[in-house]
Order: sequence, then structure tokens, then C-alpha cells
Amino acid sequence: MKAPDNLVQPFQVESMAAQGRLVRLGSALNEILSAHNYPDSVARLLGEFIVLGAILSGTLKREGVLTIQAYGEEAIRLLVVDLTHDGNIRGYARFDEAQIEKLSGQGISKKTPEIPDFFGSGRLVVNLVYGDSARPYQGIVPLEGCILAECAETYFKQSVQSEAKFMVAVGRVGGAWRGGGLMLQHLETRGYQVQSGENDLDNTAESWKRAKIMMRSVTEKELLSLEVHPHDLLYRLFNEDGVRVFPFESLQMNCRCSKDRVEQVLNSFPDAELEKMIVDDKILVHCEFCNHEYQFRLDQIDCISQ
Ligand SMILES: [Zn+2]
Repeated sequence: MKAPDNLVQPFQVESMAAQGRLVRLGSALNEILSAHNYPDSVARLLGEFIVLGAILSGTLKREGVLTIQAYGEEAIRLLVVDLTHDGNIRGYARFDEAQIEKLSGQGISKKTPEIPDFFGSGRLVVNLVYGDSARPYQGIVPLEGCILAECAETYFKQSVQSEAKFMVAVGRVGGAWRGGGLMLQHLETRGYQVQSGENDLDNTAESWKRAKIMMRSVTEKELLSLEVHPHDLLYRLFNEDGVRVFPFESLQMNCRCSKDRVEQVLNSFPDAELEKMIVDDKILVHCEFCNHEYQFRLDQIDCISQ
């Protein structure tokens, strides 16, 4: 049986010490990254943030959008990833070409990207906006860590106030981009009930330690591979304590832009702004997420004074 792809697989270690999510991205990631002609190092970094977004998308419990923005002051200026509750995912990057080239010349793009090399002192902004009237959530933390997994751990500690471990991998397999990720979150005070009715916290602490050690044994190949079924990988890692898997969520590249939406935005601009955008009697609007170009004749935009 071929292993399923483009998914978030939630699971729980049966000792109740940890819960987590395993992410596998194939065509969805390749479609996002191939829509742009980014240098490899930028595509790889954006891919890593997309995997992180997929891992965190489990925090969207109902209709809404999760947006991750990573701001930098060096080669990377901005990475944006957004995901909807129903698994639509998209992303884009803004960067300084000359600085990226310089970094690539130093061979940095060949190994796992190190966050400070590309961002300088960056910051990570996570937004959760719900479709209903619930208050949006925003978390802002400095991008602290050498690799993205470490930055995600800092974010989790500061914003979610819980210990979590992350692994993120992105690479080309057979010419196409693939991504994989694993997150393990400590369920701190919830020791399981033993027969006496007391929480067995010592065993839970041991189990958490064991789960972290096992997590570290995962290879990049396993994270990126389509050969190993996600259930088999989770079983290999956590079978000593038992692991329970829940139904997986599917992810697909899908941009929410449309001609109507772009037109609405244009109609909200003041005339003076719109006039600056006119080239050859037309306004061209380019969607940074999917690279689609929308073209408007002046008579198609209501508010332009003719
Ligand atoms: Zn678009």
C-alpha cells in the first residue's frame, strides 16, 4: 500500500506523557515552491516554515486562518505562510537577491539553513484569526535559535507555555521538493492513573524522556520518505509506551486570491494611489502567494474617475 502524502497525522503517546503531530508534504509543497523562481536556499527556508505551519495548524480547532510571518533584517526580509482550517496552504518569500547570492557563494545554502545567517535578528509572528467573532490570537517572539526547529521550541515555550520538541526537514527527492516534520509536546501534569488512583508522575517523566530520545533517532530520510507509512514510523518510535493515532488531516496548495477579491481591494484604494498603479491604461496586480497576475482595464474599476 502506498503511504498517504500531504497530511498532518496527530498522535498521542499512550502513557499520556506526550502528544504530537507528524507532517508529510509532497505535491502540496512542490506546487508552492515551484510557482516561484526562488533561489534554492530561499525555497528550502520557505519550505521549512510551511512544514512548521502545517505542524501548528492543529491549533486551528474551527473555521479560521493561521498565518506565520517571519521578519528578517538580512538576506530574508519576510516569509509568509498561511493555512486554513480545511487544509489549504500557501506561502511566499521576500528577500534581498544580492545578499542571498553572497550567502550561497559561502556554501551556506548547501547545508541546513541557519536562521541567524539569513534573518539577522528576526522575529516570528503567529496569528490565528477565526471565522466567527472569537478574539484573534497573536504571538510574537524573537527568532531565537540556530535552526528553525529551535526557534519553534522557543516560540512554544514563550507563547504556549509548554515544552515541545520539533524536527523539520525539506529537500528535493527525485527533483521535486518534499518536506517532513515531527512535533512532540509534553503533557506536563497529566500523569496516567495507576490502580491506586494516584497520578504516576515519575513514570510520565520517564516516558517523556524516552519519547524525546526516540524522536532524535528519526532521520531526515524518514521524514522526507514516502516509502514508510506514517503509522509505521510512529510505531517504530513510540511502541514501547504505545502510540495512538487519530484521523489525519489532508493539506493542499490552494490560494484564496480571485479576481473579485483583488477588485474589492483595488476599489478600496484612494484614486491617487490607483493612478500611480496605471501602466498602459491597465492595472496589473500580482499575487505574491501563487504568482498569478490579474489585469484590470480602467473601466473595470468602479471608483476610478474616468
Ligand atoms: Zn494567489
